[in-house]
Amino acid sequence: MSAGAREAVEARVAAAIRDVPDYPEPGVVFKDITPVLADPAAFAAVVDTLAGWYAADRIDKVVGIEARGFILAAPVAYRLDAGFVPARKQGKLPRATIAESYALEYGESTVEMHGDAIAPGERVLVLDDVLATGGTARAAVDLVRRVGGDLVGVGCLLELSFLAGRSRLGEVPFRALLTA
Ligand code: AMP
Repeated sequence: MSAGAREAVEARVAAAIRDVPDYPEPGVVFKDITPVLADPAAFAAVVDTLAGWYAADRIDKVVGIEARGFILAAPVAYRLDAGFVPARKQGKLPRATIAESYALEYGESTVEMHGDAIAPGERVLVLDDVLATGGTARAAVDLVRRVGGDLVGVGCLLELSFLAGRSRLGEVPFRALLTA
């Protein structure tokens, strides 16, 4: 993609994201990506861009993080000829799972994956919509590594750089379409 085309995609997607102040709690500015999904050209551009980044990486599985990560990871997996694997909140998956817990500002959260969803040595991409503090993505990365997956990288639509989530990912290659 040319630099001009990439800038046009970024501008269209950025313009479609809505800031929602004080949601879900006071002080948080929620980045609502639903207008991006509702705009066929913007949605296609996001999926094509994410898939394009990893097209040469021989990805076997794309892990999508519940819930909005699913919406991006499934079409990207389809484009990459890879399988889709859901990483879900605690208690949602029906078969034997592995789990990783991580600290939130207040309390703790847990993300789970089916224990047999990724075979040892499979090349894995993790996708989510927004990287905030990075705790959720880090937990997904740890799940992939525990089952012996070969982690190729983490990608997202929007990185909230002021929360420094990227640092939680350490050496894991990370890419974001937009940075706020
Ligand atoms: P974190 O673990 O802090 O990186 O949070 C990432 C997860 O929470 C992602 O699955 C996001 O969908 C969601 N999230 C966190 N902060 C925001 C925000 N300001 N706007 C939209 N989604 C967010």
